[in-house]
Amino acid sequence: MRELGCYIAGHWVTPVMETVKLAVTNPATEQTVAKVSMAGIDDAEAAVQAAALALDSWSQTTIEQRMSLVEHFLQQYESHYEDMAQAISTEMGSPIDSAREIQAETGVGHTRAFLESMANMVLEQRHEDNVQVVREPIGVCVLITPWNWPVNQIVCKVVPALLAGCTVVLKPSELTPLSAQLYAEFMAAAKFPAGVFNMVHGTGSVIGSYLASHPLVNMVSFTGSTRAGVAVAKAAADTVKRVTQELGGKSPNIIFADADLSAAIRHGVSECMFNTGQSCDAPTRMLVEQSVYAQAEILARLAVKAIKTGAPSQSGDHLGPLVSQQQWDKVQRLIQIGIDEGAVLLAGGTGKPDGLNIGYYAKPTLFGNVNNQMKIAQEEIFGPVLVLIPFATEEEAIAIANDTPYGLGAYLYTGDLQRGHRVARQLKAGTVHINGATLAYTTPFGGYKQSGNGREYGAYGIHDFQEIKAISGYYTD
Ligand code: NAD
Repeated sequence: MRELGCYIAGHWVTPVMETVKLAVTNPATEQTVAKVSMAGIDDAEAAVQAAALALDSWSQTTIEQRMSLVEHFLQQYESHYEDMAQAISTEMGSPIDSAREIQAETGVGHTRAFLESMANMVLEQRHEDNVQVVREPIGVCVLITPWNWPVNQIVCKVVPALLAGCTVVLKPSELTPLSAQLYAEFMAAAKFPAGVFNMVHGTGSVIGSYLASHPLVNMVSFTGSTRAGVAVAKAAADTVKRVTQELGGKSPNIIFADADLSAAIRHGVSECMFNTGQSCDAPTRMLVEQSVYAQAEILARLAVKAIKTGAPSQSGDHLGPLVSQQQWDKVQRLIQIGIDEGAVLLAGGTGKPDGLNIGYYAKPTLFGNVNNQMKIAQEEIFGPVLVLIPFATEEEAIAIANDTPYGLGAYLYTGDLQRGHRVARQLKAGTVHINGATLAYTTPFGGYKQSGNGREYGAYGIHDFQEIKAISGYYTD
């Protein structure tokens, strides 16, 4: 069985507390597939020291030098692409076609987009009479990532930070260390100077908060739950470091009566259920105009009932299992709460789908006639659970859409683009999708309210890792 270690100062190292090992479980089989030696405080400290030592020289490298090393990394990634897809599928249950075509693909797509954005970035310019405004690397960055889009989240932090000239300590999710390990192997093979990229496997409670509060760390870029994001921000506060947060969501999907109803419902259901509902910006609250609500309920029920669930190793567009027993328990608890709250169960429910007794499989579930004050409308479930909420007017739709602590994604379907524009501007969300339109790798991604601070992807993502310096007296003319 593979044992995974940490990558610090250009070497693979066995953590000081070698005895603490965490089993990596395949969520489809419930079998242990690898063991990870968990880093302790000493290892986290060594990683920060290595990153701090490497900072001076790395921050002075040219953009071309940094881009060339990132291109070497990309070559490694592309030549081991299938290994990455298999690792993601094994560790978090993504069906293999999805792992290959979407999850692993984000590693390539985002890296290319960051390279292009860096090549086109204006790093300094004249401001007013005699001031030069310069973008500089912020310094040593700690990057903490979740398990649901494991490589997407890693690449959206590591690549922009390194291109900006920062050095990094990556702490990936303890649930998905296989993809992180491969990622680190590609970085090592690309031959970044020692200490520029470091990775420590460990838990949030043991090393996450230590890293976030470390005085030599200038920035923490965090993606994960709002609970942990708040803890990270508090840990970072005493040393006044920059904290960017990509957190949870409970994204609304407003379907107006003038939309192509059947396409809107089909698309909305599939977007919600994709990745077994484990996407931060999944449209989990479907708001439907009252006049078409009865028809929408029928269409949504048909669409949810048509969803298949099965083994990640099989080809196809079915759903895989949830990531862990803990996540399965949470989803079951919230489905039961929905039933107890009086929402109408239209499909699915508690328990496992027929014939899938081993593995953390959940039933694709649909609730009708949900009130936005119910817990299932307010809490991020992070499973294949969609709620339908009727509304009467455009104003009411906007009010319900904005009535959660979150503000990550928002979706709307209408036959009237003027209305689409009007409503989009009133939604408190970092991204709004009109009539099913998708995002590009360069589109800014992030949240309003308790969905976070900062923006990832493309040039916006690189800017988050830069300080801005104004040098006055720069010109004599
Ligand atoms: P999580 O918060 O449990 O863990 C995320 C990471 O934070 C892990 O690496 C974990 O070890 C670490 N961590 C946990 N507690 C910590 C602490 N006190 N200090 C420092 N680090 C700590 O989240 P998760 O279950 O891995 O991921 C799912 C969550 O991530 C969902 O809420 C989802 O919406 C969110 N998410 C958001 C985005 C986004 O872009 N907004 C993207 C993906 C996932």
